[in-house]
Amino acid sequence: MMSLKMKSYVLLSLFGILTLLIAIHQFSPSIGVATNSVQTDINYESRYAGLDIEFVSKHSEDYTTSISKPVTSSQKVNEKIEAWLTEQEEQFLEDVHKLKSSGTLDVQANLNIQLETNPLAEQQYHLLFHVYQFMGGANGQESLHSLTVDVASGKLITIEQILDTNHVQFTDIHTLLVNALIEEGIDDIYQEELSTTMNNPSLWTWTTNEEGLTLHFDEYEIAAGSNGPIHVTLPFDEISDYIKDDWKRVWELVEETPTESEEQAEDEHHSTDVHEPDQIIKEKEEQDPPQEDILFEPNQLEKDGKYIALTFDDGPHPRITPQILETLESFDARATFYMLGTQVDFYPELAIEVALSGHEIGNHTMNHMNMTTLNREQLVRELADTTSMIEEVIGITPTTMRPPYGIYNQQVVDVSTELNLAIVNWSVDSEDWRSREVGAIKEMVFKDAANGRIVLFHDIHQATADALPAVMEQLQAEGYQFVTVSELLELEQSNLDIGPHSRRVIE
Ligand code: ZN
Repeated sequence: MMSLKMKSYVLLSLFGILTLLIAIHQFSPSIGVATNSVQTDINYESRYAGLDIEFVSKHSEDYTTSISKPVTSSQKVNEKIEAWLTEQEEQFLEDVHKLKSSGTLDVQANLNIQLETNPLAEQQYHLLFHVYQFMGGANGQESLHSLTVDVASGKLITIEQILDTNHVQFTDIHTLLVNALIEEGIDDIYQEELSTTMNNPSLWTWTTNEEGLTLHFDEYEIAAGSNGPIHVTLPFDEISDYIKDDWKRVWELVEETPTESEEQAEDEHHSTDVHEPDQIIKEKEEQDPPQEDILFEPNQLEKDGKYIALTFDDGPHPRITPQILETLESFDARATFYMLGTQVDFYPELAIEVALSGHEIGNHTMNHMNMTTLNREQLVRELADTTSMIEEVIGITPTTMRPPYGIYNQQVVDVSTELNLAIVNWSVDSEDWRSREVGAIKEMVFKDAANGRIVLFHDIHQATADALPAVMEQLQAEGYQFVTVSELLELEQSNLDIGPHSRRVIE
């Protein structure tokens, strides 16, 4: 554990004073709020240098929303992202309200915005948002939105900066695309819609990878719906005439005969800066403790003991989770963390730290979808990908899972059983996400706290970290011992789930 902390300090010094200042600013408690929160000076870097992710989820009788928001060090870029996300959410809530008032909302509507991060160059990322919306009917709707950011300069990168859209033969790119579509077996193309999009590069949803430029089209956007969303990659060598020189160099499309000193500089550049995210991961792999160090071993509990299991969902969060770890440590307590695959991807070091501190890691799916809206294949992916990610990053295999919003159906039970995951909900809801207030959180916990119960918190809210010391102090005073979910399950002789549930099960 010390070595990891040490490593964090090393990373901290690597990333410099600016990061430290930001961290100090973030760790400061809100003005005017009396807290007994645990402040920590450990700073967990994101795997994507300069880019963080924040997850927010809400639910009511009528809807559920889950949004992954990228956060950069540039206020201007953040405002742009925030404005777009807010617009998506408001439009969704308005639609839900309309359906509700006309009496035609017959499901719990769902909005899920996922972030796919593709590095472009050093501190430059394509942010591809996958928006899933479910308002009833057989299928949900998926749409895509892309932004390309340079987090170092705090600016967005537009397609016009990469391609010379004024090139006399630029319209040829349209023909290239049509050929690529036909090659992929898509022949029922809506020619007019495709022309409109191709003539307006600012409307493109685009990303790049090592091979080329990928254009993304929503379902029904340029072809019959049976094709689903369409992704076409135009290889760089086919479009190199339109690529501006700076970017030709990035993708090594120009043949240069560098002088010796340039060659050397280039080599040094590659070995230090360009592969930074990979380097962090590599470093982690090299320094990974042997698996037996973090193998989670449930303790055997006494039949007549007084136990309570604290659970923390939707993390790990670089600022909140470390505070919660410190509080748990000060009570010598074990808890269970239901982690999201996307968060583990961004904060591998922190995910390892949670496990090294002796806590149980549970599977909370990859993207926090309402699982009852997924088909079997999607469901398997959401759970299996998360288990694989936890295995690869942390080196343990989760044995329990918590469905997002606590909502599941028979298909979820079947798939979870196949994947050796026990479904675990909760019996005490702190409603921390709703109140985000220390007093209210305490009140909700003690309203329902009892022997053998499972308490739901989220390690993504400051109020949760602030409330935890007082909550644990009182629970301890009442004679509770803090245990993990698996320890409770073992005591309850492996019940597949422990009730009563605060969410309904969809049959
Ligand atoms: Zn959740």
